[in-house]
Amino acid sequence: QDVIRLALMGATGSVGSSVLDVCRRFPERFQVEVLAAHSNDSALLPLVYEFRPALVALYDEKAAGRICPDLPADVHLLTGPDSLREALGQVPLDHVVFATSGTEAIPALLDALDASLDVSLANKESLVVAGQWVMPHIRHPHQLRPLDSEHSALWQCLRGESLSSITKVWLTASGGPFLDFTPEEMKRVTPADALSHPVWSMGAKVTVDSATLMNKGIEIIEAMRLFSLPLAQVDAVIQRKSLVHGFVAFVDGAVKALVSQPDMRLSAAAALAFPERLLLEESLALPDPWLWNLSFEKLDGSRFPCFRLAREAALGGGGAPIVLVGADEVAVAAFLNGLITFTAIGDVVEATLSSLGGETPSTLEDALDLLDRSRQYARSFVCGSRAERR
Ligand code: NDP
Ligand code: MG
Repeated sequence: QDVIRLALMGATGSVGSSVLDVCRRFPERFQVEVLAAHSNDSALLPLVYEFRPALVALYDEKAAGRICPDLPADVHLLTGPDSLREALGQVPLDHVVFATSGTEAIPALLDALDASLDVSLANKESLVVAGQWVMPHIRHPHQLRPLDSEHSALWQCLRGESLSSITKVWLTASGGPFLDFTPEEMKRVTPADALSHPVWSMGAKVTVDSATLMNKGIEIIEAMRLFSLPLAQVDAVIQRKSLVHGFVAFVDGAVKALVSQPDMRLSAAAALAFPERLLLEESLALPDPWLWNLSFEKLDGSRFPCFRLAREAALGGGGAPIVLVGADEVAVAAFLNGLITFTAIGDVVEATLSSLGGETPSTLEDALDLLDRSRQYARSFVCGSRAERR
């Protein structure tokens, strides 16, 4: 079997560490050639010594300066905003994993697709903000493989099927830690409460998004982009245990579901090894089916304003999903920094959407500009509402 030469963008993050664990278990299958991160040089350095990539990229120049003297002599170092793109041009690769947060990696994502490399994509923002400009760059079937667990589930259910046979896809939601909270309890949620997810261990931003259910709303838009479906054909349902990750209903009435342990290493392995499947660990097997106790609940969107706003943005189309992403990023950071309450996250997003959500960008540059202006608007809204409270 050929060795897969891999670049991992976002190596120091939560998804990055799941991807590296798959590589660690199959050193004969995966050769990590590029490790990239933003600024966490101290987390990156031990990974460099473990995986011995040919190239390391750090977005932040100060961090690159710190790591430089400690790197092995044969490891090449790149830094700056273009370092991900440059890395792709300098090392022979088969597969690129985008496990970065934010939208900085979009140009590198387009390059990787144009170069016909296989791409595994965890990053939701790039599809929600730029899906319209990303999807046309796909060069062959299964080139773009979703890592987000629900989308990986749908992608796996759709193997050998045609998109035109779909009547509806369902994403499951664990519901986060506050599914049964009253509106009063919701107002008192602290950052520490929001960061303790009942099922998944993830980066801070996506954990808070899971608690507001903004994450599920963003994932609906992500699925619309990935599988070219209208909002009417994408829905979400509560499955508290996160054993079912997604299902696809077909025109003949059949429904396929993907059931597995909630562990990001499973979607990472499914994407990296496609079309094969890898045995990562015996403990990842499910118990006998009578122990699954699967149950589903209707998602009451009216209790989660962020979920409602995301669906409205999906329906409105144009620039609204972009504004949603920019405003939510700022609102979640403000909540984590103690500047606003948990329930104010939705207020920030709603205000930004009503100010900028009507615009329709016609180029990727316009889209990124709208994203920036949404962040700015949300920031000034946060400052304004704080000043008002004083
Ligand atoms: P983390 O915050 O844990 O990690 C983000 C990673 O991206 C870090 O390695 C960070 O580097 C790196 N990074 C950020 N910006 C840049 C940049 N400009 N150039 C290079 N590297 C960069 O996030 P998660 O792992 O939780 O999530 C990553 C993405 O995957 C997000 O889009 C998220 O929505 C999505 N996702 C996450 C899931 C999860 O289980 N966590 C599930 C499904 C999707 P540094 O450490 O140096 O800052
Ligand atoms: Mg998900």
